[in-house]
Amino acid sequence: MVYRYKLSEIMCCGRRRKYRRHHDPDLPVQRADVYPGNHIPIAKGRLLLGPDVATYVIAFILICVPSILFFVFTCRYFVQYIGWAVAVPITLIGFLLFMTDMYCLIRVGTIDPGILPKNTECYKEFFDITEDVEPGYHNQEALEAPPNKEIEIDGIVLPLKWCSTCKIYRTPRASHCSRCDCCIERFDHHCPWTGTCIGQRNHRYFFFFVTITTLMCLYGVFACGLQIGITINAFMIQDASLYFGGAFFDVLISCPVSFVLFFYALIMILSVGSLSAYHFYLITQNQTTYDKIQDKFSHKRNPFNHGAKANIIEVLFSPLPASRLCLDQKIVLNEMIQEEAIAERITLEHEDAEQE
Ligand SMILES: [Zn+2]
Ligand SMILES: [Zn+2]
Repeated sequence: MVYRYKLSEIMCCGRRRKYRRHHDPDLPVQRADVYPGNHIPIAKGRLLLGPDVATYVIAFILICVPSILFFVFTCRYFVQYIGWAVAVPITLIGFLLFMTDMYCLIRVGTIDPGILPKNTECYKEFFDITEDVEPGYHNQEALEAPPNKEIEIDGIVLPLKWCSTCKIYRTPRASHCSRCDCCIERFDHHCPWTGTCIGQRNHRYFFFFVTITTLMCLYGVFACGLQIGITINAFMIQDASLYFGGAFFDVLISCPVSFVLFFYALIMILSVGSLSAYHFYLITQNQTTYDKIQDKFSHKRNPFNHGAKANIIEVLFSPLPASRLCLDQKIVLNEMIQEEAIAERITLEHEDAEQE
């Protein structure tokens, strides 16, 4: 008997997803295999890449290439001309900053940013969503364009908006990202450089990433500037008649890589530094970029604001809430999917029989 499913498709939220299957429908499969959003589950759902993979890769290149050049050219200069006592700490600090930055960039772009599972019939089965997730969060009676609900938090009434795409009531600070095709809890913004949305679960890594990138750039300006300064000085001692401008030109020729890195880091400081400062301000206020753009708390008190210190601890250092998706877990397909799979198998067998 021919027993195979080449390609089966299941319906989720009006979109058809390709779903590859080679075994019995009664056997459990990975939830990641039936995930309906635009994120890309990898390593059996343990990691979740955002939809903007190309720009995420570019972000890695923009950090890795100058860092490698720094280690190869600038650090080598300190080893050759200044000595190990200076070269070793300069290289070590640079390496530590680089590794921490890479860790944060990988974390921010590969964890669930805080996706609220969609409320479709098949999804309900897969994710076992229950009524007690959030007040009014998953109301089965309200599947067809229900009115907005309200929730009171610390004396302030906030709307629980209905998402017509995900068929759920969003939590108060959640928003739907059309790029990711899902609702994100404590939505901040969609960041193409990390490939994904910035939300409740990855905001801290995003903040650490931009802050450490800023520190790396400051460090690059310091180390490359030191090399340029020492080289200018050496040229001027060598040739007493040489004026500063002439020495500067000689440096450009003798250490062009550090020269370019110096200005690259300087430009980057302006962009990532201001971003880091802005996000630090938002974190102390317990607001998101989206809250700020929507001007949510200009006319009413922000009930999430518990003071700068408590806000910083909550956003950056509190335990990470568990993902609502749990894509690395296994599930057994429900009856609807099984019937579909069986129907396809019959069709396939029928086609095989006809071919023979
Ligand atoms: Zn939504
Ligand atoms: Zn997004």
